[in-house]
Amino acid sequence: MNVLVLGAGQLARMMALAVKPLNINIRAFDVGSGNVVDPLSTSTIFGGLEKGIEFADFITAEFEHIDHQTLATCEASGKLRPNSQAIKIGGDRRLEKDLLIECNVANAKHQIIETKEDFEHALNKLSLPLILKSALAGYDGKGQWRLRDAAQAEEIWPDIKAFFDGGEKNVKHAVVAEQMVPFDREVSLVGVRDSQGNTKVYPLTENHHTNGVLSVSIATQVDERLQAQAKEVFDSIANELNYIGVLAIEFFQIGEQLLVNEIAPRVHNSGHWTQQGADTCQFENHLRAVCDLPLGSTELVRPSAMINILGEDTVPNEILNVASTTLHWYGKSKRTGRKMGHINVSGQSEKELALRLMQLADILPEAAFDELKPYVSAYQTKLD
Ligand code: ATP
Ligand code: MG
Repeated sequence: MNVLVLGAGQLARMMALAVKPLNINIRAFDVGSGNVVDPLSTSTIFGGLEKGIEFADFITAEFEHIDHQTLATCEASGKLRPNSQAIKIGGDRRLEKDLLIECNVANAKHQIIETKEDFEHALNKLSLPLILKSALAGYDGKGQWRLRDAAQAEEIWPDIKAFFDGGEKNVKHAVVAEQMVPFDREVSLVGVRDSQGNTKVYPLTENHHTNGVLSVSIATQVDERLQAQAKEVFDSIANELNYIGVLAIEFFQIGEQLLVNEIAPRVHNSGHWTQQGADTCQFENHLRAVCDLPLGSTELVRPSAMINILGEDTVPNEILNVASTTLHWYGKSKRTGRKMGHINVSGQSEKELALRLMQLADILPEAAFDELKPYVSAYQTKLD
């Protein structure tokens, strides 16, 4: 079976590594160069999307910011899974909000801003503080603002206006203003749906962010009621989209209530732990769904965690002395803050997992993993 992945980053790479034993061949379409590349070496195999489509039995995507013409061309071949609508929704927060409302799932109140009038209207309609997010992909690290009080509004507007004016000329930019949610923690649900409508979800994963980027995910046995609530949301969204493949949903948890933050129509960083913590990892399950193979188990085999390696191209080899630890590099060149690789670690019990996480935190350089130790230590305390 041959599969073309739109996007040639680490997610395509991990898909390729995961499904080699199933005799599924992955090639990746680098949307930047327009070449079809080997997902491991990223060296060009041949040029052009058309030839890539010809090669493929199925086509899928590793990210959502793909131009609509490329998606339309792939969809016309009848091989694209998930469908282009699902991918587009993941890349536009306005469509995403419409979907959440359509599915009747709880999410933060919002208003769409395209003009100064919209901005003022949003300030009247929503209660502060607000978070304002670019509807489409941000650029140059721009595209998110936080508004604590009304006095700040005058300061922020020129910035948003400049953002609108600075974007690509033929794209109409917009911002989604959302009420800040006073969450207790952030969790995500990674699940999979096949073409027959069967769904399976992994256990909810707790996510810790450092400077707005995911740094640690922990997957353990979760409260059944909370898991059922998340599964219900997953099913309604995945069914509404007639989705095929892995879909991730990020939530805010407040008490026992889950509010959807955003969806990702793809395998997700918070699901990397499944490589060691589940029988079938998210990458394999994604391709199983795409290629019409039976879905694999999404049960937690053992408590597991993932630590992102951000902006570093080496870590001390001693981490591999910590039991049940694996290291996954993405083969990318070093850049500040860039996702370069990740570390997975598991334990037979949560206590054992916490202990091993602490062993890793002791070895990893504090400068690059500054929030790891405090986070793990709080986690240990919670278990005592
Ligand atoms: P990523 O693609 O890395 O998941 P993103 O840039 O698409 O992130 P969000 O996930 O929407 O953006 O927001 C990033 C983080 O900002 C969230 O994980 C959360 O910590 C915080 N955040 C976003 N929206 C809200 C909100 N309404 N209330 C409180 N915190 C929020
Ligand atoms: Mg997010």
